[in-house]
Amino acid sequence: MTRSEAIFEMAREVIPGGVNSPVRAFGSIGTNPPFIRKADKSRMWDEDGKEYIDFIGSWGPMILGHNNDIVREAVIKACADGLSFGAATALEVEMASLITAIVPSVEMVRMVNSGTEAVMSAIRVARGFTRRDKIIKFVGCYHGHADYLLVKAGSGALTQGQPDSLGVPQGCTKDVLTATYNDLNSVEDHFKAFPDDIAAIIVEPVAANMGVVLPEKGFLEGLRELCDKYGALLIFDEVITGFRLGIDGAQGYYGVRPDLTTYGKIIGAGMPVGAYGGRKDVMSVVSPLGGVYQAGTLSGNPVAMTAGITQLSILRDHPSYYEKLNQKSDIFFTSLKEVIKESGLNLTLNHVGSIGSIFFTDQPVVDYDSAKTSDTAAFARYARYMLGNGIYLAPAQFEAMFISMVHTDDELAYTLAMAKNALASLK
Ligand SMILES: *Cc1c(COP(=O)(O)O)cnc(C)c1O
Repeated sequence: MTRSEAIFEMAREVIPGGVNSPVRAFGSIGTNPPFIRKADKSRMWDEDGKEYIDFIGSWGPMILGHNNDIVREAVIKACADGLSFGAATALEVEMASLITAIVPSVEMVRMVNSGTEAVMSAIRVARGFTRRDKIIKFVGCYHGHADYLLVKAGSGALTQGQPDSLGVPQGCTKDVLTATYNDLNSVEDHFKAFPDDIAAIIVEPVAANMGVVLPEKGFLEGLRELCDKYGALLIFDEVITGFRLGIDGAQGYYGVRPDLTTYGKIIGAGMPVGAYGGRKDVMSVVSPLGGVYQAGTLSGNPVAMTAGITQLSILRDHPSYYEKLNQKSDIFFTSLKEVIKESGLNLTLNHVGSIGSIFFTDQPVVDYDSAKTSDTAAFARYARYMLGNGIYLAPAQFEAMFISMVHTDDELAYTLAMAKNALASLK
């Protein structure tokens, strides 16, 4: 038995499923999770000393690579001043100033501790500001695990949301309307049915939680127009795309301005951080300024702020890092497309910037239904092969592959070679 296997056995006794987040389980690819002991740059090592090229990057935060010297030293220095005060700090103001300077649509911002919290809070603000209750979300978009956002694949337009998880009362989801990604008609139908009741549309501007699904031309613009027409707010959930597609995220990349934006992942550089922000008039409803209550004992934690500020400052000061990252990623994904073609398998590859997904289907993947046509058993064999050869991919079909600024050409070439072998083994 390997050390990881032994730890997993113990873990399952004391942690449900042995993991603190279901995406860390490797059950869906038919194997056990390697327990990771340390990471540096683009590499990770498990408890057995096996080395991996990491294409998750903590699900996004490690855009500069693991264990960045400047971020690490800043955090160590911050720790010496105390871990938490539960009081106002200049660091929080620095973080807020940094974010509002980087992202034009974000005029005011609140820090929280996770992406889930950011989205919950943004939706409460949208409801409080508009005095409306209903929201529209897209099937296959993930916005954290708040009760009312765990809404199942909708069975068609205008149906009421059905809870996707046990423990979510039916009543929680009655104001959640589900629409189809890239289908503006499915959105407008809801507005026609409830013209005065919809507080907001929440959307991943690039969907990255049903695998990577790109917004078709006009989709995000169309959402903006519908929100303006019906007096609803547009919320971009940029927990993955924020500070990744470019310094100003998907909204900068696609040139569509939301009213509110939610952040997580990259914003904390690996520390548990989230944030939500947007128009000043909208954010002014947040307590103690306004009547929408939202609070957090550890929000704006000085160590976490230091990590976030340091990473965001590096990213802001080096626009060329994004140019190189996106160029390197584009070459990688284009080559991967070539590898797929040569394999004779008819698969779909979606990618933008430094995120992408192979779908084991021959159909174009534009929404949840088309994503679901993927052969997940074939994906599992592919991912297992890659893992066995030291390439750490997300252990599920419906996740993204993340490339960091420190992945080397050699590592990417090795990954392509292994992908070629993996696909050959599937035939
Ligand atoms: C990860 C994610 C969340 C939830 O963030 P947590 O920090 O895991 O709570 C919300 N929205 C999107 C788009 C995400 O990818």
